[in-house]
Amino acid sequence: MTGYTSLEDIPKIREELRTTFRSGVTKPLAYRRHQLLQVARMVQENAEVFVDAIVADVGRPRHEVYFTEIGPTIERFIICANKLEEWTAPEDFEGVVPDWQKSWKPKVYKAAKGNVLIIAPWNYPLILSLQPLYGAISAGCTAVLKPSEISANYAATLARLAPKYLDQSAYRVVLGGVSEITRVLELQWDYIFYTGNGKIGRIIAAAAAKHLTPATLELGGKSPVFIDDEFDVDLAAKRVLWGKINNAGQICVAPDYVLISKHRQDAFVQALKKHYAEFYPDGALKSDSYGRIVNETHHARLVNVLKGTKGTIVVGGKAEGREFEPTVVKDVKSGDSLLDEEIFGPILPIVPVENLTEAINFLNERDHPLVIYAFSTNEQTQQFIRENTTSGGLVFNDTFQQLAVNELPFGGVGESGYGRQVLRYSFDLFSYGRSSVEIPTAIEPMLAIRYPPYTKEHTDI
Ligand code: NAD
Repeated sequence: MTGYTSLEDIPKIREELRTTFRSGVTKPLAYRRHQLLQVARMVQENAEVFVDAIVADVGRPRHEVYFTEIGPTIERFIICANKLEEWTAPEDFEGVVPDWQKSWKPKVYKAAKGNVLIIAPWNYPLILSLQPLYGAISAGCTAVLKPSEISANYAATLARLAPKYLDQSAYRVVLGGVSEITRVLELQWDYIFYTGNGKIGRIIAAAAAKHLTPATLELGGKSPVFIDDEFDVDLAAKRVLWGKINNAGQICVAPDYVLISKHRQDAFVQALKKHYAEFYPDGALKSDSYGRIVNETHHARLVNVLKGTKGTIVVGGKAEGREFEPTVVKDVKSGDSLLDEEIFGPILPIVPVENLTEAINFLNERDHPLVIYAFSTNEQTQQFIRENTTSGGLVFNDTFQQLAVNELPFGGVGESGYGRQVLRYSFDLFSYGRSSVEIPTAIEPMLAIRYPPYTKEHTDI
């Protein structure tokens, strides 16, 4: 397809960036700060253009794009620019080592990993491509950024604007699909940051392993909701529904399915219906506060999983073109098509359970999710869930709010990925601790004992 980076150019770009990295130009903090602020400027000055592109690609309401991508991205690049001194300061170990080693100047310097590769998905194309980039710039790396070919308008916009704001000898956008990314992955990188699904994640991890390249995989999975018997079912329904309708459910941390006591299932469904009617008085498909499914392939996938369910559709179900109504399915049981793979769309299955223990067992029989949403204000229940489950994150009594806390690390565990990002944690991913000591020449007499020939004096020590 036209507009893609040519396969011949890909190794040349990598070589160019490697040369830049070796030249040291990306290391001074003034340079890093300037590049970070340039990206913030690029997003701010072209916010409308980026929003237009993302709306065209994903079909998401404009408000959601500003709220979830434009605003946080600008804010986080500026925070990085302001935090550089703090993050890059060497760690001093003088106060930690025994007295006789204090003069050795033991330190850990924060060194850039090198020339890195960032591979981003389509669903939040701006923040998920630029967020790793601020980590790379802050750490002093050079970087190739490969946005998703599915969000083609955003990718083209970024490729057009980035050279106007960023140092092209250090940061480059590579456009393409499978052929281009396959060529990219044949090359050696000093670090790979991938966001996307676990099937491709395995390809990335295997390609990284060939060069012993460290990688972070930000993956997805089925993030469950648990609602305990005491929690206000109306409030839970409102917050879960909101979590499900954002970007029409196409978000890695979307609540995937709900576990609730059998006797509360119908009350929960009624509350979902009530809030659905409040959010979309004329139905979601007529509302400009509701998005679409990204493309026909994903739409067909969703239609298929819904067709396969043995549960009962109690809300929505209408699906045509790229539209898909928010859809609630009750009485879903183990083995159902809706419980097979990550839904990544606006379908919410409800799985009735006997009690908390059954809910926890249900969770623990499955892959570790990116996040668990547990609705309970009971401290013992909260502690029980914390101690008896595994997930990348844990949110009590809401959906998505883990993303609103800038200072918290974000990432998965097991099938939902590995590595932690956001602000300082992103900086940490792209840098490494380089231990350093400087042995004083004056201590040579103290070292005499280490040299051969080994005599009785040596062995008597
Ligand atoms: P996608 O199809 O855009 O793919 C992601 C990237 O992988 C793209 O840049 C694409 O070019 C590349 N790719 C595609 N085929 C490839 C191949 N054969 N070899 C190498 N690279 C290839 O996005 P997607 O995977 O559909 O994204 C949705 C998934 O990502 C969901 O599972 C979601 O949960 C997950 N996700 C995770 C996070 C997170 O932060 N943990 C965020 C967003 C999405």
